[in-house]
Amino acid sequence: MKIIMLGAPGAGKGTQAKQIAAKYSIPHISTGDIFRANIKNGTELGKKAKSYMDQGLLVPDELTCDLVVDRISQADAVNGYVLDGFPRTIPQAEALTNALNARNEKIDYAINVEVPDSNIVNRMGGRRACLGCGATYHVEFNAPKKEGVCDACGAELVLRDDDKPETVQKRLNVYHDQTQPLIEYYSKAGAMVEVDGTQDIDVVFQDIIKILGE
Ligand code: ADP
Ligand code: ADP
Ligand code: ZN
Repeated sequence: MKIIMLGAPGAGKGTQAKQIAAKYSIPHISTGDIFRANIKNGTELGKKAKSYMDQGLLVPDELTCDLVVDRISQADAVNGYVLDGFPRTIPQAEALTNALNARNEKIDYAINVEVPDSNIVNRMGGRRACLGCGATYHVEFNAPKKEGVCDACGAELVLRDDDKPETVQKRLNVYHDQTQPLIEYYSKAGAMVEVDGTQDIDVVFQDIIKILGE
């Protein structure tokens, strides 16, 4: 099963993608996580990506597309994957479609996690990210057992720099300009499905299972 998560920053794509990956035994591939790992490890890619991410802008397509095409070509992705945060532009979607066409494959589902902008700034302000394993929490809606500490790995939880309100508004603008057109792109491709992302995390996941099957 090949799945794409669509939706505004903070809609809950990552939260749902992790659960989908666990239930259907497919890898969760997050471009944001890949970039953050590169920043942490001080790679060339990380240095380039950071300057865009800090400003709430998208990392250029030429730094992003090959990376994802390589990643979905690895052995653990033969039975499918859930892509979280890619594609984010029409050229990225076209690069993915071309790579898949070349192998006679296609995206089965593009899941749009629908959340209005008015909910987003609140969500992001409460998001806490693990510096160790990339897990995400919310101070109110998905709190860790011990404040400031990751349940999964024990590392410290932080507010991402790009989750501060000024940057969140910029990222929302970028989303509407560059990423929202993908809804039409994947509708035309016959892959588009939608869930109401304002519901509780578990309810959203149940709705997704109804679409993907048990
Ligand atoms: P969120 O989950 O809040 O939407 P991500 O972790 O997916 O955020 O992405 C964080 C940042 O990483 C983005 O604001 C952008 O700068 C960069 N990024 C992630 N994925 C992509 C992509 N597919 N294309 C360009 N930039 C990306
Ligand atoms: P995205 O990957 O789309 O940027 P995340 O999955 O990281 O979004 O979720 C953003 C924040 O909102 C996180 O703090 C997460 O714990 C929280 N969150 C996710 N889904 C829900 C939900 N259905 N209701 C309330 N909070 C949620
Ligand atoms: Zn962790």
